Amino acid sequence: MSKHILILAGDGIGPEIIRAAESVLSTINQKFSLGLTWEHGLLGGAAIDVHGQPYPDVTSAQAKQADAILLGAVGGPKWDGIERSIRPERGLLKIRSELNLFANLRPAILYPQLADASSLKPEIVSGLDILIVRELTGGIYFGQPRGIRELENGEKQGYNTDVYSESEIRRIAKVAFELAKLRGSKVCSVDKANVLEVTELWKQTVTELHQNDYQDVALSHMYVDNAAMQLVRAPKQFDVIVTGNLFGDILSDEAAMLTGSIGMLPSASLDEHGKGMYEPCHGSAPDIAGQNIANPLATILSVAMMLRYSFKEEQAAVAIEHAVGHVLDLGLRTADIYAEGLTQVGTEEMGQAIVNALNT
Ligand code: NAD
Repeated sequence: MSKHILILAGDGIGPEIIRAAESVLSTINQKFSLGLTWEHGLLGGAAIDVHGQPYPDVTSAQAKQADAILLGAVGGPKWDGIERSIRPERGLLKIRSELNLFANLRPAILYPQLADASSLKPEIVSGLDILIVRELTGGIYFGQPRGIRELENGEKQGYNTDVYSESEIRRIAKVAFELAKLRGSKVCSVDKANVLEVTELWKQTVTELHQNDYQDVALSHMYVDNAAMQLVRAPKQFDVIVTGNLFGDILSDEAAMLTGSIGMLPSASLDEHGKGMYEPCHGSAPDIAGQNIANPLATILSVAMMLRYSFKEEQAAVAIEHAVGHVLDLGLRTADIYAEGLTQVGTEEMGQAIVNALNT
């Protein structure tokens, strides 16, 4: 049976990077006779403009039917002033939780051609290959109660709740251990167990699962403040990092910068059955939207992750990853990864270059 994809371009640079990724998707679909079909839908600000909601029912129905979702990015200043509960980013949180996309995989891989684009010395980052596994549907981003209340003295107070149950911790840790077995067999679980009870339980639960089922994988634990420091001091010590929603959000952006540009990093958000939403790690970059200068490679590499994790088409995934390497070898660079002596290209040209590389 053919597999169906829902494409949500979103806002800002979303439509531009998705156009480039879609041309790569068409090419790979033909080249490997994958039989994939797809349709488009609305999420975020684009959906608010049409339906008044960032994740309207029509998109929800499309998303539930699809086998995988490819997303650009959502949000932008146009919608910053509207009521918090219907802001574009809420649409993103809603689709993730409705589809139970609890496992967010963010690889931070340094392409050797981009070693100079990293803010760290080449010897510290060359060969870097980290996979951050972030819990995505729990923790403080979803915990209740939350809000801003007025105290008796008239002062306002903001509050959120960080909660994780054992089953939520176990299922994300399992994903991390399983993926580690396919890579360097090392998992570092990041917590703040010295201060937060919720992460004390996190640490205990990960340790128990390791003892029961994954003794063949090396497990270490690290406090989040130390992990943030170690990522810039000696990032190659890590193989798979597993952590909660908030810490994972921050650490994965930090890891992103080790690779030179956030414009290079794809991500996958998976449910328990391999259905997933695939998107670049970056946001909608309103500052460069509509200028044909955004880097589409993170989105194109997200297509590769989709082929690998949702459709088990490893060969096709690798073909895209090789094409990206080849185009970087040719010296083509978007503005964010450009260095003197190389050839600067726009979003569309970069997408076309990947298509050409796949066709040769
Ligand atoms: P951002 O990731 O959009 O941009 C940060 C910086 O990186 C900007 O200077 C931007 O120009 C640059 N950048 C990002 N992607 C790039 C690319 N592909 N090529 C070249 N440069 C790129 O983060 P932000 O500025 O904090 O947020 C902008 C908007 O995006 C906000 O509305 C935010 O809520 C939203 N956002 C959405 C998502 C998502 O959809 N998953 C994630 C993060 C932020």
